[in-house]
Amino acid sequence: MTTAASGKWTDRYEMVVGLEVHVQLKTATKIFCRCSTDFGASPNANTCPVCLALPGALPVLNEHAVELAIRAALALECTVNTTSVFARKNYFYPDLPKGYQISQFDKPIASGGCVTIGARRDGSDVRIGLTRAHMEEDAGKSVHDRFSGFTGVDLNRAGVPLLEIVSEPEMFDTAQVDAYLKTLKQILEYTRVSDVNMEEGSLRVDANISVRERGETNLGTKTELKNLNSFSNVVRALEVEFARQCALIDAGGRVEQQTLLWDEHAGDVRPARSKEGSHDYRYFPEPDLPPLIISGKRLDHIRRHLPELPAARRERYRREYPVLTDYDLHVLTAGPAIGEYFEQVARQSDDGKTAANWMMGEVLAALKSTGQSVEHFTVRPADLAQLLNLVRDDVVSHTAAKQIFATMVRTGDPPAQIAQRDRLLKISDESALSDWIDEVFAEHPDEARRFVGGEKRLQGVLVGFVMKKSSGSADPKRVNQLLATRVGT
Ligand SMILES: [Zn+2]
Repeated sequence: MTTAASGKWTDRYEMVVGLEVHVQLKTATKIFCRCSTDFGASPNANTCPVCLALPGALPVLNEHAVELAIRAALALECTVNTTSVFARKNYFYPDLPKGYQISQFDKPIASGGCVTIGARRDGSDVRIGLTRAHMEEDAGKSVHDRFSGFTGVDLNRAGVPLLEIVSEPEMFDTAQVDAYLKTLKQILEYTRVSDVNMEEGSLRVDANISVRERGETNLGTKTELKNLNSFSNVVRALEVEFARQCALIDAGGRVEQQTLLWDEHAGDVRPARSKEGSHDYRYFPEPDLPPLIISGKRLDHIRRHLPELPAARRERYRREYPVLTDYDLHVLTAGPAIGEYFEQVARQSDDGKTAANWMMGEVLAALKSTGQSVEHFTVRPADLAQLLNLVRDDVVSHTAAKQIFATMVRTGDPPAQIAQRDRLLKISDESALSDWIDEVFAEHPDEARRFVGGEKRLQGVLVGFVMKKSSGSADPKRVNQLLATRVGT
């Protein structure tokens, strides 16, 4: 697809996108049994009669999964339904030993809601509506590369709790799609509902896309792109599918409703099995699970204990640290841990702007280059605050502080100890400074004579000589003071 072609398509047509995001809820055990949800266990190690679907095994709902689903729903401004019903979604697949998936159908745990993805020029919010969020169990996984000529089945994921968050078809370009996914991921991370780790499959996206001429209000026929495993793949797949649908319509053809798979390596989409209507699943209420009743008291309790959400945190930082720019605010609230780290440094150094500058410069660069997460960063917030205080109190120079920080990243040692050991303390000891000044006067007699005679502008030059002689460790303020006392002597 050339850029010129995509330019033409976007002039005439717009895409209409709705997303289904499957989020793995962060529980220790599966949704209907006590098996572990640990990622990376050997195949079928985390299984039992319930998730293997052995005859007579009965599901028991994991209350912690319900708790997390409610927390997510409230953070997404959904209505949590006081009664929801688990249903059997019947279909055959090798990695689904029961022959059905326990999901929710016409009575999901949450309805409505929205995600605010940004603001328009006039200041009004861009909000993407949500249709619903429902709980379900994950299926197992077919393994194609382990036994030559055979397909293996790993059921460790079978029964892992998922929340499927379904948006309205209200995104009209890939920038909105990208913003929606990032905002949603951030909210789920802040509420600690999920690890939102895409590499481990704890966040997966299906995208519905249709195309219509600009100005048209009816929806065109949609296709569904299944199992997209990164945000960049979502965006790329949508662009390719948008161009395909536009070309088809432009040539007088019709889009066929179907399920498509994204081939990351070919950069193209290809048809999967033909799309089943929901009637094909023969949904019926799961007879082994009672309706899920959620009391108002329980809802209130969870609502009261919701953690601060990213948008609220940005507003609070804006109030508490008015010097921060919009860009600073976004970087510092990108994840819950980065914000907490920043706040500790800011509080303990009592200087929000300097703390922010160090966070966005040195700290993020060090995290990136060492591959550490901020939670396990070798430099603890208290130590970074102490370093900033050493600079503020003129004990070390800014240049020395950067050197000390690099050592802190490597060793985790406290800054004062490093400064002492590596001789990076600013020297303000009078006799040491006087000795250096004497040496400079001896080496530059002409400048010294003129300075003492009253040529004040030479003071800066002489300070420079002293700084050089001390390898940057002399305290320039003290050097200035001492030089001033020699004028007229
Ligand atoms: Zn199990």
